[in-house]
Amino acid sequence: MKPAIEIHGLGKSYGSKMALKDISFTVREGSCFGLLGPNGAGKSTTMKILAGLLEFDAGGVKVLGEDIRRSGDRIKAKLGYVPQSITLYEKLNSLDNLTYFGEMYGVRGGELKKRIREVLEQVGLADRAKDPIASFSGGMKRRINIAAALLHKPKLIIMDEPTVGIDPQSRNHIFEMIRSLKREGVTVLYSTHYMEEVEALCDRLAIIDHGSVIAQGELNEVLDRFGSQAVYLELAEGERPPALPGFDEPAAQGRGWLLETAAPLDALACWASACKERSLNVKRLEVVRPSLETVFLALTGTTLRDS
Ligand code: ADP
Repeated sequence: MKPAIEIHGLGKSYGSKMALKDISFTVREGSCFGLLGPNGAGKSTTMKILAGLLEFDAGGVKVLGEDIRRSGDRIKAKLGYVPQSITLYEKLNSLDNLTYFGEMYGVRGGELKKRIREVLEQVGLADRAKDPIASFSGGMKRRINIAAALLHKPKLIIMDEPTVGIDPQSRNHIFEMIRSLKREGVTVLYSTHYMEEVEALCDRLAIIDHGSVIAQGELNEVLDRFGSQAVYLELAEGERPPALPGFDEPAAQGRGWLLETAAPLDALACWASACKERSLNVKRLEVVRPSLETVFLALTGTTLRDS
């Protein structure tokens, strides 16, 4: 399948601050690609460059087969960009906001009316078309912001952390919408610092840290290559997990403990017999899949949440 985005050796500085050092990745047409990284990693800068809103200093960028430096305007007409900040007129209703954005994208008349109805359906806010934006929750505003970027039927949609600070209902709507865009063959580039979102939505991902891609590939590939396996043990309240000679200390996680190990079955068997010997009440004992959290920890030495 053709690539929708090709980035090679992308570099960008803001004055003396080097925001992007070496970003390279390719996004296949019709797929959802996740950019995962902590705050300040360079996700927004990369997305703004792709959307044609920022110049860059080094490397090459092709969007939908065209060099962004040569065909910026033509590309802009085929992509939708959803910025992190909400850019809506609070006093106007959704209909008027979407009319304004649609006209900016060159959609007019009957076609615009039809598209507004369709995108409002898509983001689940068709019944609120005439209410002022000021009366909307943060999540609803974000959904209208996404709707605005879909009016001209873009082939590629770039979403910069669309779920930050929103309610679960809006988050679910956004997820469903992304899945339906994918079914229609639209390419989605999605940035987040929540790895569960990448796990739920993305076919491939790149992990960005300090302006460089530190891992990329299909989710399972990245997990297999960089993630460690673990065993999870949950006991009755007040009980402590037995220490296992030859294994690392388990770390508290949720209601239980997580033990990272290259030999999860051995650890599970040892924990099972140690718990039995001590007559502990085992609620859960299982091998767990590596997570992006363990990948991030292995690659950077910090957790995604604390960094
Ligand atoms: P992310 O989206 O991953 O949080 P950004 O792309 O926003 O990261 O930022 C990357 C780096 O560039 C950070 O160190 C940030 O402080 C810096 N940066 C971003 N925008 C500007 C700007 N307009 N001027 C100066 N530095 C900036």
